[in-house]
Amino acid sequence: QTATYAQQQGWHLYLVGGGVRDLLLTDNHTTLNLQDIDLVVDGFHRATTPEAGVKLAEALQAIYPQSRLSIHGQFQTAALLWHKDPQLGSLWLDIATARTEFYPYPAANPEVESSSIRQDLYRRDFTINALAVRLTQPHQGELLDFFGGVEDVRSHFIRVLHPNSFIEDPTRIYRAVRFAVRLNFDIETQTREYIDYAVNSGVFERVSLEKNSIPALTTRLKAELTYILQAQYWQPALKLLQEVGALRCLHRNCQITPNLWWQIRCLDRWLKYYHADSYNPSVSSWLLRLEIILSSFPEGVIVANNLELPKESIQRLSHLSENNEKIKHYLPTCQNISEKVEFLANYQSITLLLIAVKNSKPIRRTIWNYLMHWSKVKSPLDGKDLQKLGYKPSKLYKEILNKVLALYLDGKIKNQR
Ligand code: ATP
Repeated sequence: QTATYAQQQGWHLYLVGGGVRDLLLTDNHTTLNLQDIDLVVDGFHRATTPEAGVKLAEALQAIYPQSRLSIHGQFQTAALLWHKDPQLGSLWLDIATARTEFYPYPAANPEVESSSIRQDLYRRDFTINALAVRLTQPHQGELLDFFGGVEDVRSHFIRVLHPNSFIEDPTRIYRAVRFAVRLNFDIETQTREYIDYAVNSGVFERVSLEKNSIPALTTRLKAELTYILQAQYWQPALKLLQEVGALRCLHRNCQITPNLWWQIRCLDRWLKYYHADSYNPSVSSWLLRLEIILSSFPEGVIVANNLELPKESIQRLSHLSENNEKIKHYLPTCQNISEKVEFLANYQSITLLLIAVKNSKPIRRTIWNYLMHWSKVKSPLDGKDLQKLGYKPSKLYKEILNKVLALYLDGKIKNQR
């Protein structure tokens, strides 16, 4: 229906981007579940105006009133959202008008103007993402491959379209890594050299999250970074990001040393057990991975602020090193379990997880025992028992019950129930 409407307007409509790539990568036996469809409209009989995509989306929404329409950006693009069933998830349909982007200076926000489909594809990141399938007549179904994308899909290569690509938009370095790891493709040699050139020319110093100098770019970098940290393939992706020098956008000296790797992996293992216990509050694993990385350099809190991480996350990071010092010094002086429990109860469990992986085995083990066992131990007596024993309810109750719990934790009394 969208294609028919476009055709009536004298426009061409194309399926572009990841959808075409994924179609080419899908064999005949697999059903492709496209959840994110990108369409581009350009002039055929009649030139388009920047609003063509929006007009098309509005027409489509009139046909499918259950979809939700949103329009964004200075060069308007429209998105339609359908809520499919819970198993299939939602369907996003993005419709844009063919456009060209100009970067007034490196890593700037691009300026945009209407263009042909060829130019629209040329502004894209990689050859494998610069393919289009025409959905309108004539030549409906034709695959447009101006830059050798089909060959690169076949040979499993991530290749940029022009040498300046990473200088213009350093988030493409993150995208190159993401696609390489996700699709199990290689970053083509020349493209890798362009990445090295961009990184060595200081592109990440210019857009550093420490400075937040270009907010729109920061938002895109954040999106790419979180995408990677949330993905199943986060470990090889993080390794490759480090290898290409892309972690410099977090901090000029950000390095995942063997020790930091160990902490991240240990945290991940712990979180699996921790989350398996339904009594424990849940927290996003990717966020804690990021917190551990940010806690490895002093400006981590500034970066967390610029990344607009959740408030609790920023709070945790702000006090992490101070809390770590306190725990490191005080915990080994605690003589018995009840003392350790009383001391550790001052800290949130997520903070303790982060601190545990930064410390030596005895402290780690104590924190683990506290989180998984001791903190869940209930006093063998409760208020009703005290009443039965003839004590009148008073402020002393809490004190007595705590004392009983401490004796119980230290094995000095047994539970008689
Ligand atoms: P995914 O399957 O991860 O969604 P995708 O290719 O659809 O992959 P999107 O981030 O949805 O990725 O982007 C859609 C398309 O927009 C891409 O295929 C690419 O052509 C283009 N694109 C996205 N980000 C950039 C960028 N930073 N620079 C150039 N082109 C981009």
